[in-house]
Amino acid sequence: MSFDEVLGHDTIRQCMSRVFGRDRISHAYLLAGPEGIGKSLLAQQLAKTLLCNRSPVGSGAQQRMNPCGECGSCQALASGNHGALQILASVESRGIEVGTLREMMRSLSLRSGDRRVVVIDPAERLAEPAANALLKILEEPPAGVVFLLISHRPAQLLSTIISRCQRVTMGPLTLEPFLEVLATVPIDESSGRWLFGAVGGRPGAAILLQQALERCGGEEALAQIVHSAVRDPRDLVAVAGDAGGQTDREMALATIRVLTDAIWAFRPAVGPGRWQAAEKATLLSHVARHAERSGSVDLCLEATAMVLSATDLEQLRIRLPRSLGVA
Ligand SMILES: [Zn+2]
Repeated sequence: MSFDEVLGHDTIRQCMSRVFGRDRISHAYLLAGPEGIGKSLLAQQLAKTLLCNRSPVGSGAQQRMNPCGECGSCQALASGNHGALQILASVESRGIEVGTLREMMRSLSLRSGDRRVVVIDPAERLAEPAANALLKILEEPPAGVVFLLISHRPAQLLSTIISRCQRVTMGPLTLEPFLEVLATVPIDESSGRWLFGAVGGRPGAAILLQQALERCGGEEALAQIVHSAVRDPRDLVAVAGDAGGQTDREMALATIRVLTDAIWAFRPAVGPGRWQAAEKATLLSHVARHAERSGSVDLCLEATAMVLSATDLEQLRIRLPRSLGVA
């Protein structure tokens, strides 16, 4: 896949191409925006372009920057094995730890001379000591290393880290590129239009919701799960399914996120039910945040079931923290 194959985000791609062409590459970028809009994909493509042996980075060229797909670097990246690209992702509830960051910087320092890229996805999952260590690194960035920080919630990052990054703010896609992305899955246009209304221009979220619909047997069946009491909260995980190699926490998180989108997708067009759906989606996003960090997976799924079946939201707001084990 080339840089051009990241669909949507045209202005950002053009702008990054110009910056790369003139070799005005910053040592750190923060790709910020909602989940499911293609931040990780863009970061991968930026990394490939920066590392490609034949890409016109720094040539003064104004054209789109694309990795060639053929050189040794591109091939190593395609096989997922390139020593100059390091991806830091969070492991279970611990987040990204300082030891992992230090070890990665040490291994990169053995490759001085080349350009190297570090992707941190998502940056808000850096544990506090790791965030402080990263800040020190960004204060005196090693030559040739480009950091690509991804964040769904930049407000949770240290402001001192943000101020040392070039910020690239990414928003939801408009309908046309959104449908284009979905067509590659493939998802047909009429389902695509419905999904756009349901999740906004977030193709990543739309694909997960579409898969949940297929898994449950259609809109009515998923709406039923969203609107009725769940006997065993563990059963909810079947909605998002097992993408393979996921931990319990990742599966629970995917479940909570897809159910949040489903609540919103099946909200009534008018009346108090519409307001209630918005409120429930907000409460579920709190549960997701808790599940992301440290919450017990079982408690988070129980809380999710409580939110789905709740009729009295006032009561729920009082009970929810206790059921998450935080009260
Ligand atoms: Zn190449």
